[in-house]
Amino acid sequence: MEDIILNNIKHIRERIEGACIANGRHPEEVKLLLATKTVSADRIAVALRAGEVLIAENKLQELKAKYDALLEVSHTNHFIGHLQTNKIKELLRYDVACLQSLDRFELGEKLSQRLVLEGKAMDVLIQVNTSDEESKFGVHPDRALDLVRAVALLPNLRIRGLMTIGLFSAEEGKVRACFRRLKAVQEEVIKEGIEGVEMEELSMGMSGDLEIAIAEGATIVRVGTAIFGERQYPDSYYWKE
Ligand SMILES: *Cc1c(COP(=O)(O)O)cnc(C)c1O
Repeated sequence: MEDIILNNIKHIRERIEGACIANGRHPEEVKLLLATKTVSADRIAVALRAGEVLIAENKLQELKAKYDALLEVSHTNHFIGHLQTNKIKELLRYDVACLQSLDRFELGEKLSQRLVLEGKAMDVLIQVNTSDEESKFGVHPDRALDLVRAVALLPNLRIRGLMTIGLFSAEEGKVRACFRRLKAVQEEVIKEGIEGVEMEELSMGMSGDLEIAIAEGATIVRVGTAIFGERQYPDSYYWKE
């Protein structure tokens, strides 16, 4: 089991490096995030001991279930799933450095209030729905700038960039169009020069499409299957309840 995970990581690192070189980018510009839904703490620990640092769950229950077991191996937690506002308080117990799935003002507002109360701060990415699919969360690209403006005014939250899932399609052009859409939102936001807003992170690209994402400017690729193997549950279970 260990060998498979380690080999897979090596292969993913090579893919990232290859895509960076092909696009005149430096491999250090792209961070690898391990999407660990359904993966046991033991198997995640294998990856962390091999030098990986960035992991993310989609569900609070899973974050909670694996949290103690992973305390002994150094790592950084992001959260990439849909978050209900009534779960914010609980999320803050688990040392999440960045919420990548901030997709509505109400969530930002409640999160900010709670952070203020606890004297904490958190990085966030604004999740954008670039595929126009009902089945994906995220703010519509046309409303992303307004959401950024509003969230920028909330205390104790730091906007660091944008996240998208994009379309799953064998048609490369359609997948690429989603990533370009996210890049376009990033440029739109940068042009506005909103105080306190940083736009250096573009979290996009997964096991099947990370090369396209890197070509289009990804700084974080989120990889699950290609490292830990196929999952038992369909992703719809995680993306829309
Ligand atoms: C599961 C998941 C990933 C990783 O997907 P793979 O295809 O398994 O690499 C990335 N981002 C999000 C939001 C996910 O839920």
